[in-house]
Amino acid sequence: MEILKYDVIIIGGGLTGLRAAAAVYHASLGRLSTAIISKVPPMRSHSIAAEGGMAAVLYPELTGDSYEQHAYDTVKGGDFLVDQDAALLLAQEAPKEIWFLEKIGVPWNRDSEGRIALRRFGGMSRPRTAFAQDKTGLHIMSKLYAYVNRLKAFDFYTDFIVTKLVIEGGEFRGVVGLDLKRGETRAFLAKAGIIATGGAGRLYKFTTNSYIVTGEMLGFAIEAGIALKDMEFVQWHPTALVPSGVLISEAARAEGAYLVNKEGGAVHVPLLRAGGARPARRGV
Ligand SMILES: Cc1cc2nc3c(=O)[nH]c(=O)nc-3n(C[C@H](O)[C@H](O)[C@H](O)COP(=O)(O)OP(=O)(O)OC[C@H]3O[C@@H](n4cnc5c(N)ncnc54)[C@H](O)[C@@H]3O)c2cc1C
Repeated sequence: MEILKYDVIIIGGGLTGLRAAAAVYHASLGRLSTAIISKVPPMRSHSIAAEGGMAAVLYPELTGDSYEQHAYDTVKGGDFLVDQDAALLLAQEAPKEIWFLEKIGVPWNRDSEGRIALRRFGGMSRPRTAFAQDKTGLHIMSKLYAYVNRLKAFDFYTDFIVTKLVIEGGEFRGVVGLDLKRGETRAFLAKAGIIATGGAGRLYKFTTNSYIVTGEMLGFAIEAGIALKDMEFVQWHPTALVPSGVLISEAARAEGAYLVNKEGGAVHVPLLRAGGARPARRGV
């Protein structure tokens, strides 16, 4: 069996894996040899399906928003079960990520003054969602993938399914998997590994997740003795098309749509427009 050696292995070529790759590059000034392994080519990762946008406090002086408010809304939305330090860190880091993505070319929608447009999503007490049309994930992925490629610092192994994490004495040593292009088993040895293999939406009969989101790495992690955290936090959406699983983004409700029951009565009016006016039109 062929054995490949790297300083760092990143398993997953979605938004998480590609962003981690950029972070490894910048933290090490490009000195660490790094492999990105993915069972599909990066641009087929599920991240391209993300539609609605990304939450960040961008113009607090205009919106009255703050990191603390973003963190509080996040913790409240998670029924106060959320890791509060993580929520605050997320709120503090999110604006930097938006500006980084702006710098590498993500075409954020703009308001009439030329600022990055912000809208409200579920649970937000302030408008806080930056978006690139209704294809935010696709736009971010294409710019981030191009950026990571321009760094010329990574070896990509696609169509490669990792089937085992190798941990010895509590330390990461590498991975073993199936190289589908070659039809053979290969192993990677590395000093560090980053698991960025996404969720497990396909566990459910009806889901908006694509076919590759099967979550097997979660099982391999347990087999290797790695603890999983907060597995009960699966995102549920109130609106999706049956049976295709196409999501009706919460952006629809942010723009004024609301849910009705079979009698035509409103069952959920989650968002008020800025200024407090209720949406005039009835929608999905
Ligand atoms: C319809 C929809 C809309 C969404 N909209 C939004 C939104 O508007 N805003 C938002 O913030 N979030 C949104 N989300 C959630 C968001 O898309 C995900 O949280 C995010 O894309 C996850 O990124 P990821 O890189 O962790 O995973 P993924 O993009 O799923 O990438 C996983 C990677 O791991 C690889 N992989 C998996 N298993 C293996 C294996 N065994 N061996 C090798 N490689 C493996 C895959 O090939 C892939 O490259 C949405 C989700 C859905 C379903």
